[in-house]
Amino acid sequence: MAKFVARFAAIFLALLVAAAHPAAHAGPHEHGVASLELSVDGSTLLVRFSSPLDNLLGWERAPRNEQEQRQYAALRAELAQPAVILSIPEVAACRLESATVSDPHLKSSSDPHKDLEAEWNFRCGAAASLRTITINGFDRFKRLRRVDAFYALPGKSGKSRLTGRQRELKLP
Ligand SMILES: [Zn+2]
Repeated sequence: MAKFVARFAAIFLALLVAAAHPAAHAGPHEHGVASLELSVDGSTLLVRFSSPLDNLLGWERAPRNEQEQRQYAALRAELAQPAVILSIPEVAACRLESATVSDPHLKSSSDPHKDLEAEWNFRCGAAASLRTITINGFDRFKRLRRVDAFYALPGKSGKSRLTGRQRELKLP
């Protein structure tokens, strides 16, 4: 246990609690559904993923024992890497600059439902070449059935509904 904690402690130092305000497009809390917000501004690509914790962990209550605490910690560490949820074509030359993963159990609340948010900030060498983003998260998280994606690119915005069978977010 101590070894495990030490390994993740270093990662957690880099994890900040995401902003308290909810995602602008995040819909009502619905198990099986997550949202992805993507915006491009100059060479910056910002992606925010918001999901009921149930989709990712199978439960939303506070961890009840050491094993559950480890699962929860491992999930948050895993989500600091965007590749577990999505892949960006190499042509856009995007490099991850920072990641924040929220800690929905940080504050106790009477609401039994919890959402987890991950925010990834990329710098892209060729952001204008970004035409598709593929959602891989359906493979890793079997309870995730749908991702509602919203994008805001210079001069254009839109939304798209993605599933295990339709994983590709096409950008105009
Ligand atoms: Zn819930």
